[in-house]
Amino acid sequence: MKEKLISAINGDITELSVDAIVNAANNSLLGGGGVDGAIHGAAGPELLEECKSLNGCATGKAKTTKGYALSAGYVIHTVGPVWRGGGNGEEETLAECYKSVFEEARKHKISSIAFPSISTGIYGYPVERAAPVAVRTVMEELERTPTVEKVIFVCFDKRTYDVYLEALEGLDG
Ligand code: ADP
Repeated sequence: MKEKLISAINGDITELSVDAIVNAANNSLLGGGGVDGAIHGAAGPELLEECKSLNGCATGKAKTTKGYALSAGYVIHTVGPVWRGGGNGEEETLAECYKSVFEEARKHKISSIAFPSISTGIYGYPVERAAPVAVRTVMEELERTPTVEKVIFVCFDKRTYDVYLEALEGLDG
């Protein structure tokens, strides 16, 4: 039943009208490339101003700001692991990102969340390995978070989208 709440789309996360969008940020929280740059560009300069007051964010943790010019009310910034071959706790750290985002969602009574594919861009985490971790961890967190009703994985390119669809289909089996 719960999987009905989870979907994947091929699109741009800055355009989503949800309570919160997740940013795959870096430790400084002061903006960067990829989805981080897109979110700062769409939210406007006030987002950077608020981020400057947060003193960065540790890898695997999450911090919340307002969404400013975005349709989303909040941005939950999390810092994914840099892929270093898979033997350096990357999987645990990636799962921790999703858990930390849900912790923030519970704190702010958020009911709908859109995630990008954390770590699979500049940070080099293979999407085939990241997608099952993302889907599994979100399922677990949904079980313990009644306030969150909807999760959307927003995949910027078709290949990422196909991999997430496959990971979501794995839920049925
Ligand atoms: P990381 O540094 O965590 O790897 P990136 O931003 O480089 O973060 O990439 C994470 C994923 O976000 C990649 O799949 C990338 O293609 C995707 N991405 C980039 N821009 C957007 C956007 N506007 N909406 C959704 N996903 C995006």
